[in-house]
Amino acid sequence: MNLNDDLYKEIILDHYKSKKNRKRIADAKHLEAANPSCGDDIDLYLEVENGRIKDAAFEGMGCSICLASADMMCDAFRGKTVEEAKGLIDKFKGMLTRNEMPEFPEEAADLEAMQGVAKFPLRIKCALLAWTTAHQLVAEDERSGTEAQS
Ligand code: ZN
Repeated sequence: MNLNDDLYKEIILDHYKSKKNRKRIADAKHLEAANPSCGDDIDLYLEVENGRIKDAAFEGMGCSICLASADMMCDAFRGKTVEEAKGLIDKFKGMLTRNEMPEFPEEAADLEAMQGVAKFPLRIKCALLAWTTAHQLVAEDERSGTEAQS
């Protein structure tokens, strides 16, 4: 047991219960994502303006790990540039799938609470669902951005 375990559980539970980021954002980038092996099913919304994420939110159902992770991600993304968000996605994935111990920016330090999930391969998908969906959304944005310029 790690001394941080209780603290981490509390952080995860707080994010799971939080309603702050549970909403639909009209006119935002939107993608639905599901993790059938667990029953997680979420709609993710990213409002991007001039390469910066103005707002992030989600709706849907899922297990505590999936929803807590999505909630943390929305908090972490708000106000960040798309490039910064991609950096966070890579760090978060690294923590869960490559056993890395990344340094998150202070305002996104709650993300560390998810590191214990790396020990449970079935739950990694739950924790990553929102993040892989966000990655798809910003990748789409870049493609349409390039098209607009050409
Ligand atoms: Zn799940």
